[in-house]
Amino acid sequence: MTEKFDVAVIGAGPAGYVCAIRAAQLGLKTVCVEKWQDAAGKPTLGGTCLNVGCIPSKALLDSSHRFHQAAHQFAEHGIALEKLGIDVAAMMKRKDKVVQKMSGGIKALFAANGVSLISGVARVLGNERIEITDAAGKVSEIHASNTVVATGSHPVEIPPVPLDDNLIVNSTGALEFDKVPGRLGVIGAGVIGLELGSVWARLGSQVVVLEALDNFLGMADRQIARVSEKIFRKQGLDIRLGCRVVSSGIEGQEVKVHYQDPQGKEVVEVFDKVIVAVGRAPSTANLFAPEAGVELDNRGFVAVDDRCRTAVPGLFAVGDAVRGPMLAHKGAEEGVMVAELIAGKAAEVNYDLVPSIIYTHPEVAWAGQTEEQAKEAGVSVKTGAFPFSAVGRAVAANESEGLVKIVADSDTDRVLGVHAVGSCAAELVQQGVVAMEFSASVEDLALTMFGHPTFGEALHEAALAVDERAIHMPNRKSAG
Ligand code: FAD
Ligand code: AMP
Repeated sequence: MTEKFDVAVIGAGPAGYVCAIRAAQLGLKTVCVEKWQDAAGKPTLGGTCLNVGCIPSKALLDSSHRFHQAAHQFAEHGIALEKLGIDVAAMMKRKDKVVQKMSGGIKALFAANGVSLISGVARVLGNERIEITDAAGKVSEIHASNTVVATGSHPVEIPPVPLDDNLIVNSTGALEFDKVPGRLGVIGAGVIGLELGSVWARLGSQVVVLEALDNFLGMADRQIARVSEKIFRKQGLDIRLGCRVVSSGIEGQEVKVHYQDPQGKEVVEVFDKVIVAVGRAPSTANLFAPEAGVELDNRGFVAVDDRCRTAVPGLFAVGDAVRGPMLAHKGAEEGVMVAELIAGKAAEVNYDLVPSIIYTHPEVAWAGQTEEQAKEAGVSVKTGAFPFSAVGRAVAANESEGLVKIVADSDTDRVLGVHAVGSCAAELVQQGVVAMEFSASVEDLALTMFGHPTFGEALHEAALAVDERAIHMPNRKSAG
C-alpha cells in the first residue's frame, strides 16, 4: 500500500532538512527523501552545505588561517616556532570529522523530531504522488498532501575548462587536494573562488584568480569592494579582472589556461591545479513528470512566488532550487516559512535582509542596501564609516584592517544597510541585521551602549560617523 504523509520534502540540505524538522514540530506527518549516500550506501544528510560547501570550506579556512598566523604573525607576538609544517592529510581528516559530526547530527534531529527518512531519488509525478528510485533501481511511490522541493544546486561547468577531477576540479575537488599546489588557478572571483583561493594561498600556493568581469565583487558596496580588493592583493592573491578564460589543455601534470586580457590579447598561464568556480545551477533536471504541471524558468529554477508556492496547490520549492541568493540561511528560512504555511500559519521571509558573507580573512559581509542601490532607488542617502585601525580591541588583536559602513536614509534616519570588511565582519553585520529587522534608526544605534573593548565599537562609531560625531575618528569624514 502507498504510504501517506502530510509533507514530503525532497532533499536534505539546509533548506530541506530544516523544513522537515519544522513541519514535524508542527505535528505534520513528515518524510524527507534524500538521494545522497556514502560509500557504505548509508544516506548522507545536510546537502551541499554540510558535505561539500559551507562546513568543509570553513573547516579548511580555519585550519589554513591558523597555519598562516603561525607562519606570519606569531613572531610579532613574541611566539617562536622552531619547525612549522602543514600536514594536508591531517587537515583533511579533521575537516572530514567535522562534516561527519554535522551530518550525523541531522540524523539525530530527524529521529528526535519524528521525521521519516527515505533514501532514493525522488520524482514529482503530480496528483500528490512521488516516485522514489532506490540505489538498487527499485521504484516505489509515496503519497503526500504537500510536497516541498529542496533539491539544491550543483557547480556549473564551462566548455573552455572541462573538469578532469584531478588537475581541473570544481569546488568539491578543491576541498580534497592531497598536497598544496605550487601554482593554483582559480576561475571566477565570486565568493567560492575567493574562499578556496584563500585556503590554498595561505598554505603556500601562488594563486591567480581569473575573473571575466572588470569590477571586483560587483554585488557589494563599492567602497567595501575597493578596500577588500586592496587587502586581498596585499595578501598575494593575484586577481586579474576583465580576463575571460577561453580554452585550456592538460599537458603532462600541468594545465595551460588561455584567457583574453582586458585589451583582448590572448594570454596563457600554466598551473599545477585549476579550480573552476564560475557559479552554481539549480538541480531540477528530471525532477518533475510533465503531468506535475510545474514550471521551470529559463535557467532551470522552479518558478515560485514570494511564499515559495508553485502554481500547483500543495507544491512548494525552497533554497538553491529557486530564485534568490544561493545561501544556506536563505534556504533554511524559506524551509521554515513553508512548513508554517502548510500548518496554516502566517509566515514570510524578509528577502531585503539576507546577510552575505565571504569567509576570507578579513571577512567581507553586508546586509541591506549598498550606497549605490539606495541612491538608485531615489533615497536621499547619508553614510558613516569607521576603520578598525581606530578600534582598541582590533589593534590589540593585530586585526586592524578594514572598516564598518552604515548606509542610511537622511530623511528618516533609518538604517538601510550595514557593510563591513574586517576580521569579525560577519558578526558585526549580523548585529546590523538585528537592528534593521527592528527598523532601527542611526540614532538608535548611536544611543546603544557597546562593550569596550570590542570589535562592535566599530559599528557604534560608524553610526556616530553618519552624523559626523564619531569620537575616535582619525579623519572626521572618511574611513578607507
Ligand atoms: P543543497 O544543500 O544542495 O541540498 C540539496 C539536497 O537535495 C542534496 O542533498 C541532494 O542530494 C538532494 N537531492 C537533489 N535532487 C534530489 C532528488 N531528486 N531526490 C532526492 N534528493 C535529491 N552558503 C552559505 O550560506 N554560507 C557559506 O559559507 C557557504 N559556503 C559554501 C561553500 C561552498 C564551497 C559551496 C559549494 C557552497 C557554499 N554555500 C554557502 C552555499 C550553500 O551550500 C547552499 O546555498 C545550500 O547548501 C543550499 O541548500 P539547499 O538545501 O537548497 O540545497
Ligand atoms: P559566483 O557566481 O558568485 O560564484 O561567481 C562566478 C564568477 O565566475 C562570476 O563573477 C563570473 O563572471 C566568473 N566567470 C564565469 N565564466 C568565466 C570565464 N570563462 N572566465 C573567467 N571568469 C568567469
